[in-house]
Amino acid sequence: MNKRFALLLAALLPLAAQAATTQQPIAIAIHGGAGTIERANFTPEREKAYRQQLKEAVEAGYQILANGGSSLDAVNKAINIMENSPKFNAGIGAVYTFDGGHALDASIMLGKTHEAGAVAGVRHISNPIDLARKVMERSAHVMLSGQGAEEFALEQGMKLVPGDYFDTPARYEALKKAKHKLQQTKKEGKDYQGSFNSLNVDYKFGTVGAVAVDRNGDLVAGTSTGGMTAKRYDRIGDSPVIGAGTWADNDSCAVSATGHGEYFIRYHVAADICSQVKYQGKTVGEAAEAVIFGPMHKAGGTGGVIVLDRQGNISLTFNTAGMYRASRREGEETYVGIYKE
Ligand code: ASP
Repeated sequence: MNKRFALLLAALLPLAAQAATTQQPIAIAIHGGAGTIERANFTPEREKAYRQQLKEAVEAGYQILANGGSSLDAVNKAINIMENSPKFNAGIGAVYTFDGGHALDASIMLGKTHEAGAVAGVRHISNPIDLARKVMERSAHVMLSGQGAEEFALEQGMKLVPGDYFDTPARYEALKKAKHKLQQTKKEGKDYQGSFNSLNVDYKFGTVGAVAVDRNGDLVAGTSTGGMTAKRYDRIGDSPVIGAGTWADNDSCAVSATGHGEYFIRYHVAADICSQVKYQGKTVGEAAEAVIFGPMHKAGGTGGVIVLDRQGNISLTFNTAGMYRASRREGEETYVGIYKE
């Protein structure tokens, strides 16, 4: 190498390194539901299994981003992995409705264009997040429900699965306990609403969600759930409601929520967090704290959120004992959490 060339190289190398570090950072965060998740209720094996599952999901999403893939594909993949695991209340392992079936909700949103897709109350779709994405990409609508949504799925070449595809013994036990408790509280004179609200939070949580930012700086959020154990009357929660359970906006942040859906709808949780980032200049952490521990919590709302901005700042905030969660940011180790720290 001649001397002049060597000198030039020496001058240019730091610039190249700087360019590499100043390019858009990639990041992803996921949750697998919030609730009474306490160390005392876990055997080491059970804890390990959850940690592994969360790690697998977040790293699969991260790999897509690291290979130059889109945040949409990363979110979709991470959610699929959790939907396909019986550990979470989404896809297989979804909670039971009062009538002993399953009705699933999901939604997805792009921060760049505010395009969004959602499905509610679907009973034969193994991966509802895939259908929500198809609604966004291939229909003229944002939200489809029940039979109509399944008709659309068939038109799109998706296969329907039998209702018992989602069955798991643990969730069935939870239904039996929930119904027993509902009957007890009814005897004590409470109406359906009152007794449903008094159900232990364990009957309600386990939803999955993901938020990601890719090399283009595009944010995406997605959420998928079986809803709440013993739900009736085709109840729909916050997860498919854009602005409540899911929100993404490139000018502020991306959010996926988990918790007692009725409160998350009433307090417009996901969009409110991003509005506080956008209009009040809060960090994602400050905005998430303000909403998750604010008026919604005082009104009785329990749960949590994962929040991400374009710079890769992440907030994993919950007002329950725990939240299954994981995240990975460029240049950092994968983080996995279950309990409060
Ligand atoms: N938010 C979901 C619902 O209310 C439940 C959950 O997050 O586990 O349907």
